[in-house]
Amino acid sequence: MKFISSLALCLTALFLAGCATQQQTTHDLIITNANVVDVAAGKVLPGRTLVIDDGIIGELADAEAAKGYTATTTIDAQGKYIIPGLWDNHIHLRGGEELKEENKNLLPLFIANGITTVRDAGGDLYPAIRQWRDQITAGELVGPRIITAGPKLDGPDPTWQGSIEVATVAEVPAALDSLQRLGVDFVKIYESTIAGDVFLAIVKEAEARGMMTAGHMPFTVSLGEAIDSGLDITEHLYYAFKAGSPQEDSITNVIRTSYATEKPVGFYTALGWLYNSYDPATAQAFFRHMADANTAVVPTLYISQVLNNLQQDDHSEDQYRAYIGDGIEQTYARRINSAMQQPAETVQFMRNLNAKFQSMVPAMQAAGVTVLAGSDCGAYNSYVYPGLSLHKELEQLVQAGLSPAQALRSATINGARVMGRAAQYGTVEQGKVADLVLLNSNPLENISHTQDIHTIIFGGETYTKQDLLRQVATDQRQ
Ligand SMILES: [Zn+2]
Repeated sequence: MKFISSLALCLTALFLAGCATQQQTTHDLIITNANVVDVAAGKVLPGRTLVIDDGIIGELADAEAAKGYTATTTIDAQGKYIIPGLWDNHIHLRGGEELKEENKNLLPLFIANGITTVRDAGGDLYPAIRQWRDQITAGELVGPRIITAGPKLDGPDPTWQGSIEVATVAEVPAALDSLQRLGVDFVKIYESTIAGDVFLAIVKEAEARGMMTAGHMPFTVSLGEAIDSGLDITEHLYYAFKAGSPQEDSITNVIRTSYATEKPVGFYTALGWLYNSYDPATAQAFFRHMADANTAVVPTLYISQVLNNLQQDDHSEDQYRAYIGDGIEQTYARRINSAMQQPAETVQFMRNLNAKFQSMVPAMQAAGVTVLAGSDCGAYNSYVYPGLSLHKELEQLVQAGLSPAQALRSATINGARVMGRAAQYGTVEQGKVADLVLLNSNPLENISHTQDIHTIIFGGETYTKQDLLRQVATDQRQ
């Protein structure tokens, strides 16, 4: 009796061990012979085998250790490079109810371009965005992981539809309550009409509640004040540029005083004063303060370039127009019309300003500021196409002076760190989510190689760029 039961136990144990071994070696996906791009170190790890189960990187082994592994799908990545899925850290899903479907149809365009996470910097489609986000997670819809601000916070009668209006400091808690009820991922503040004291009160109150803040900023406050109040991300370079002027305080005071008069100082007038007084040494000291305070920056260089050249550039033959719905394309008129009316000297000034902006990026990087690549694509932002525009931003960042590795970090690990998701995303490592892009060529040699996409791996599925592009073109024409 005793003998039989231990034999049975033994057989059971053998059987279980057999099963366990089998489970270990029959994986969902194995990628062999890969050159893994270690974005943090800025180097290539050659000859790696990636083992992926349930959408997670279970193992990152050398060929020897992975010998004998089997999988449902195997990809031989000989001569190819694997990077983490890209993050576009500044996009917009917006345009109201009538453009909802067109926005939804654009989502696969991000995956087609290797962008597996987007940070939606505010708009008017929030309940729908939450639904898309959940459908994407459930594998029912092809699109990137969405981190969203939901509606923007702004002052009374704001520029953007769907913003929550905050007129006084007393209204701040209720506005943040409503964002918390909506379950948004961060607070986006816009500056079309918001008062300086209300802006700072939002940042402080959000900080006290543990909510992340990002924004534009009224010129009646300084970025230093915003940072000291807890601002986490400064969008675009206008505000850091303002802080690079030794005359920032006096200029800010003049602007503040003018707001109580019939003739408030306009944004472009103020920019002109700042341009004339911008000082790289002052800027450098400020950037170090930004780095110490952990305030990240999203330079959005590419959109400035596109908008500054609207008068001269012909976009009629752009390939990506095939992927943009008619409704969204119509929203492009707003910026095109305003660009067409700009006098030559304004156009020239904006170009000069952009050159100054470009010089700020490597200076910020050197000071230790976290740089986030973001395209600002979305309805109204003419010809800044979802998906493609992030790659153009990466090219701009390198042209401005970042190394390809630094640019790559700005579109992978940096966003994951800033948004508190680095344990799961941002690098190709064991235990992380297998959001991966297989490239035909090395992005550390040339950042444009991020566009040379062979396969995208997302949510346990593999995709090709061509298939997804075809799908988007078809969906937008239905
Ligand atoms: Zn934006």
